[in-house]
Amino acid sequence: MDTCIFCKIIERQQPAKIVYEDDQVVAIEDIRPQAPVHLLVMPRKHVPSLREAGSGDGPLLGRLFMVAAQLARERQLDARGYRTVVNNGPWAGQTVDHLHLHVLGGRVFHWPPG
Ligand code: AMP
Ligand code: ZN
Repeated sequence: MDTCIFCKIIERQQPAKIVYEDDQVVAIEDIRPQAPVHLLVMPRKHVPSLREAGSGDGPLLGRLFMVAAQLARERQLDARGYRTVVNNGPWAGQTVDHLHLHVLGGRVFHWPPG
C-alpha cells in the first residue's frame, strides 16, 4: 500500500523505533505514547483492520498476540498487568488503517474505556 504509513515503516521508507520484527510481524514504539510503555504490534501484510481479516489470517492474528505478550514480559509488565487494544473503524477511533495491536503498560488503566 503506497500511502500506508505503517507499510512505509515496515519497508524502512519512514523512520520509526522498531523494537521487534520477524518474517510476519513488526512492532514499533508509538510516536504519541499514552502510557510509559506503548507499543504497536502489526502484521507485515497490509490488513486494514480486523474487519478485513479473513479466516486464513487466524494464525497471523495469534502471532500478533504472542509477540505482544513476549514484548510485555520483556518489559516486566506481567506482574502488574497491561492492556492490549485493537481499534476497528471510526467509532473505535482507528486512525491508521493498517491492523495493529496496542500494548500499553506501566500505569493503571480504567474500565470502561472512553
Ligand atoms: P489507532 O488510533 O488505533 O489507529 O492507532 C494509531 C496509532 O499509531 C496512534 O497511537 C498513533 O500515535 C500511532 N502512530 C501514528 N503515526 C505513527 C508513526 N509514524 N510512528 C509511530 N506511531 C504512529
Ligand atoms: Zn499498511
